[in-house]
Amino acid sequence: MNIQGLIDDIVAENNMAPPAGAVADYIPGLETIDPDQFGIAVAMNSGETYSAGHSSINFSIQSISKVFTLALTMALDGDGLWRRVSREPSGTPFNSLVQLEQEHGIPRNPFINSGALVVTDRLLTITGDSQTSLQAFLRQQSANPSIQVNEAIAAAERATGHRNASLAYFLTSYNNLVNPVPQVLNAYFRQCAIAMSCEDLATAGGFLSRGGQGVDGLPVLTADQVRRLNAVLLTCGTYDAAGDFAYRVGLPCKSGVGGGILAVVPGTCTIAVWGPRLGRSGNSSAGVAALAKLTARTGWSIF
Ligand code: GLN
Repeated sequence: MNIQGLIDDIVAENNMAPPAGAVADYIPGLETIDPDQFGIAVAMNSGETYSAGHSSINFSIQSISKVFTLALTMALDGDGLWRRVSREPSGTPFNSLVQLEQEHGIPRNPFINSGALVVTDRLLTITGDSQTSLQAFLRQQSANPSIQVNEAIAAAERATGHRNASLAYFLTSYNNLVNPVPQVLNAYFRQCAIAMSCEDLATAGGFLSRGGQGVDGLPVLTADQVRRLNAVLLTCGTYDAAGDFAYRVGLPCKSGVGGGILAVVPGTCTIAVWGPRLGRSGNSSAGVAALAKLTARTGWSIF
């Protein structure tokens, strides 16, 4: 299979007719990005990597950080987390407050903001500094020691993240946050503001397609844990569009409002795509279109 040719074609098709959508502007700083950049990278389990378009430009990983904090928490804490977070698709926007009250402070899943705050809280308790642990993990797994937080984006989100603050105080009222809210929020905003490229992300996510094996051959997670993590990604990783993603793409995916999507082809490769224009549910329009084309043309699907 000529993977390089396939992704070159997908980038060319995207550039000829870029999908519609609006760049996220609720976090000051994200809206200044050139909206028509588009990149894709594929990291094969066999070691080759392929990339096309703006695949080496750094972008804000935002909610894609949630898959890595969950992986680290599962690695350090086993199944303990699942007493505090469910594993059901929410069917509501990623920053919704409504369900959390109806369900007594137990977030529907670890990939909506309330669930991710609980995961970050747990990681903070275990490591003492969840964001530095996460950054070290990403640097190691992507073999890129320069990965870091975009401080301007982190500060902007700290200044404007009132909804996340509401979620955090609400969780505390149900005793489902242990650490002080400002500390959890700071760690959460900083993890979202990490900047990475498609190439970094596809490489860093490799353990998800290699049955839990990290870049150095050592296990990040057990094969059983990674199978379960991929199941939660498939059902919950793209918010209230998870059903449509499963239908169109058929892979475990995690998206972020910075316009990135990480997709896992278990046993084969990890894919990262990036295009800043977002669709209704906050997923990259160009990213979804590219993944739908790539999976149709390669037959990569878990179904
Ligand atoms: N930092 C963003 C927020 O909390 C992440 C959301 C996302 O990428 N979907 O709102």
